Amino acid sequence: MIGCECAVCRSEDARDQRWRPSIYLELPDGSRVLVDTTPDLRAQALRFHVTRVDAILFTHSHADHILGLDEVRRYNMLQKAPRPCYGDRRTVGDIRRTFSYVFEPAARWGGGIPRIDLFSIAGPFCLGRSEIIPVPVFHGSRSILGFRIGSFAYLTDTNGIPESSWPLLDGVRLLVLDALRERPHPTHFTVDQALEVVDRLRPDLTYFTHVCHDLPHAATCARLPAGVELAYDGLAIEFDEA
Ligand SMILES: [Zn+2]
Ligand SMILES: [Zn+2]
Ligand SMILES: [Zn+2]
Repeated sequence: MIGCECAVCRSEDARDQRWRPSIYLELPDGSRVLVDTTPDLRAQALRFHVTRVDAILFTHSHADHILGLDEVRRYNMLQKAPRPCYGDRRTVGDIRRTFSYVFEPAARWGGGIPRIDLFSIAGPFCLGRSEIIPVPVFHGSRSILGFRIGSFAYLTDTNGIPESSWPLLDGVRLLVLDALRERPHPTHFTVDQALEVVDRLRPDLTYFTHVCHDLPHAATCARLPAGVELAYDGLAIEFDEA
């Protein structure tokens, strides 16, 4: 955190130095899908060699999840085509407003802007041969999207799962789940609340994400139950499509 001198912010453990939450998926057909375009996208893409993006999924339109959208123009250049982006109706509207210079027709060919094809999604859809299942979750009073692909689910920025979304998570074996800190927060799960979700879903492996500087990586992992760990920047995990 900017200007913070706490033990985690000063830690020498690279896993305590956290960029904004985002994931990068390689689907079985080889296509590469980015989930959210954080303000750190450029730095993360350089560090972790993200040289291709075939599609982008958006969980919601909070600044920490969309403000790196401009960097997509590099992928337009590399791949010589607009990039398809998917989000719920509200997120798509927010992105159009926030990035009016991108979507304003008059400015469209002004040069130096990303070329984005925005699609509003209301249910499962296919990317290549993979089915992407949007999973509505509460983020405070707002409903945003998690995503399920095969046995994997990504649920960032949530403090509640509506009854109607639990069936969409049946059989998840690899889960990435919001767990901000120990103290209660109006829009994010605490560690204890996240562990309740783990208890109910019983995935083989769970990684907590959107973790704040209240939680030192090594010490927190040491006291979490078996099969539950904190995620960290650069973590790579394999999941089954089935
Ligand atoms: Zn700190
Ligand atoms: Zn958020
Ligand atoms: Zn967030």
